[in-house]
Amino acid sequence: MREELQSDKNLQQFFYGQLEVWEDARQRFHDLADVTVKDFGMVRLQFNSARMVSTGAKIDKKTLQKRACFLCAQNRPAVQTSLPFGDDFEILINPFPILPIHFTIPARIHQPQSIQGHYGAMHRLLMEHPGLTVFYNGPKCGASAPDHMHLQAGTGCVLPLQASWKKLSEQMEVICELSGGDRLGAIDGFCCPLFAIVCKSSENNEKLFEQLYKAMPMREDETEPMMNIVSWRDGEEYIFVIIPRKKHRPDCYFAEGEAQTLVSPGALDMSGLIITPRPEDFQKLSAEDAEAIIVECGIGRDTMSQIIERLKRQFIEEQTVLSIFHQKQPNVSVGIVSAQKLAFTLNSPYEVEGQIVIGKQEVLLVDGMILWNGKKCDRLSFLPHTADASFSLEDVTIGINFHWERKEVQTFLGILRFVVDGDHIHAINELPVERYLESVISSEMSATSSLELLKAHAVISRSWLLAQMEKRKRIGEENKKRPSYMKTDDELIRWYDREDHTLFDVCADDHCQRYQGITKETSPHVKEAIRQTSGQVLTSRGEICDARFSKSCGGVMEEFQYCWEDTPKNYLVALADTPNEHVFPDLRIEKEADKWIRTAPESFCNTHDTHVLSQVLNDYDQETTDFYRWQVDYTQQELGALILKKTQIDFGQILDLQAVERGKSGRICKLRIVGTKRTFTIGKELEIRRALSESHLYSSAFVVDRVGMDANGVPQRFHIIGAGWGHGVGLCQIGAAVMGEQGYLYNQILQHYYPGAAVSRLY
Ligand SMILES: [Zn+2]
Ligand SMILES: [Zn+2]
Ligand SMILES: [Zn+2]
Repeated sequence: MREELQSDKNLQQFFYGQLEVWEDARQRFHDLADVTVKDFGMVRLQFNSARMVSTGAKIDKKTLQKRACFLCAQNRPAVQTSLPFGDDFEILINPFPILPIHFTIPARIHQPQSIQGHYGAMHRLLMEHPGLTVFYNGPKCGASAPDHMHLQAGTGCVLPLQASWKKLSEQMEVICELSGGDRLGAIDGFCCPLFAIVCKSSENNEKLFEQLYKAMPMREDETEPMMNIVSWRDGEEYIFVIIPRKKHRPDCYFAEGEAQTLVSPGALDMSGLIITPRPEDFQKLSAEDAEAIIVECGIGRDTMSQIIERLKRQFIEEQTVLSIFHQKQPNVSVGIVSAQKLAFTLNSPYEVEGQIVIGKQEVLLVDGMILWNGKKCDRLSFLPHTADASFSLEDVTIGINFHWERKEVQTFLGILRFVVDGDHIHAINELPVERYLESVISSEMSATSSLELLKAHAVISRSWLLAQMEKRKRIGEENKKRPSYMKTDDELIRWYDREDHTLFDVCADDHCQRYQGITKETSPHVKEAIRQTSGQVLTSRGEICDARFSKSCGGVMEEFQYCWEDTPKNYLVALADTPNEHVFPDLRIEKEADKWIRTAPESFCNTHDTHVLSQVLNDYDQETTDFYRWQVDYTQQELGALILKKTQIDFGQILDLQAVERGKSGRICKLRIVGTKRTFTIGKELEIRRALSESHLYSSAFVVDRVGMDANGVPQRFHIIGAGWGHGVGLCQIGAAVMGEQGYLYNQILQHYYPGAAVSRLY
């Protein structure tokens, strides 16, 4: 038995337990002991024929789709057992080892290989198992299962990189230093350029890595910057070496005949331990050849300096956003209900005015004061005595103004406050932002949504929420309300933005985001999406983005200023909802818009797949799947009556609906209504959608066919043919759901819909 895991009994037992029962694996670990090596100092060769499975692995999409994923629990051999690690990972022994003790650590949920959201797990592994070396291979940097997220770990051998670490670390150029001396730096003394994070705190580690991640170049055909990571502990210090990559495999891998050398570098190879599965390669590779492979697959010095420059700039910009939240998860206050009398139950002990209470309670409005327990006050706070304490409010109305409006008992976590406003008492729930998001995303999104779609939504919801909270903090400063309409004699152009609350950050209705506390169970997928994106928001130019979204863009995303105020936003711009996002016609031109709307061009949101649609349509009743292109028909009488009722203007008989101006998605932002008595222009998109429907027309991207002219040239029927659903600005929910199904990662989805915005972590 090896001594490396001696202080780690659990892991040791698991490892040797597996060897006892799994003969193939035991044989390969045994063979590894006599494997031939050549030591050249900075690099070492290992002749390991069992590794052919990985080195020769094809990892193209087709091959991956055909094979059963060997990291998914249901496809593993019966003899292979696992050791749970946290809620999200499992530890397995690696049946094709390179290291004397070698583990594969897959995520429990099948999801693409991606370091974002999982970097923290590497730190946690080292925290629990200090004797291990933990490493990561990017999807095209040595991972043989890029479709299933996994880390690796092992021990029993010192990598060449680790052997020369003392010398290398002395040459490190420190780029950023956080509290406690935790630092990120660049190292130029190894075969290829390296970055390293040396730290004690896991929070600092993740923060520094995120900055580096953002600063690294990413190729268009990649899902993340190419890299390997090797990490280990030196006492209290955690050392993370990030090896940025330029190439997946060296040219010699693809050469023919004699010239071919089968080396497919992963984290260990890039750390100097080069694996050659074929004897001829092991024989012929010289020290120079081996080093050259590492140099070829790593980045060059010029790229290294670019990354350093970018990092320095980022740290300056980041400070401005970060300072708002003091790097700590804040509490959000949510207005739940208001009434003159509120009944509620404390399900666990709560503290109020210095005493502990539990059970049924009631507050009553008397003379403008809150009456509780025989005492009057103008505000009252119930503080949970334990972290998971909850309370239930009776008679909470849900679905206000919807056909399913009803009252129910709802249960919440966290603080309960009562505040008087006019002739009402407001019940306000205060809780950590991440817990709030778990609840709102569970009610908004279907549990069948892909993890990446849920992650994208988590980032958007969080951005929206933190921007609201930040705005309310500044309310005292100066809150000038800008006009939201322009009116002349024959034109009314108005737009609608959500009105802010003053007593609390957000309300629990659809006006903000529907929030039902813990009344319904949170789906484990949503929990995982929140955890993986914890604290992440979209930022641009040092501010949190106004991350708008709608159901379907109709093929091209709309720009902000065509729907709201005339202040364009650099991340809410018109782009095609396709992988080829810059190719689309100018839909401001009537002829182009007409052709576009009457056809249904390929796009992410052009789908009738009910599985996809049900992910983003709450209470989806499957009656129609026509959201990408749709048609609404009216008779002269119906349309005339509708417009009169909605606009309060008597147009007489309706002669025509004319697009005066369209946005870049084809949405009409100024519509001229021509009647026998009057002509008047309305806008912007929401005003138009409200005027032409009992509730809302799907979108204002439409063309109109007038049919059956009478003797006076008055049309008897109108066909409104339209595209998309909602304002079309920012993320297109149906399109994003399709992207998630197609295997795009959440940061790619966000990058597509919010070009120019970055994912930043606020706490
Ligand atoms: Zn899998
Ligand atoms: Zn609200
Ligand atoms: Zn779309």
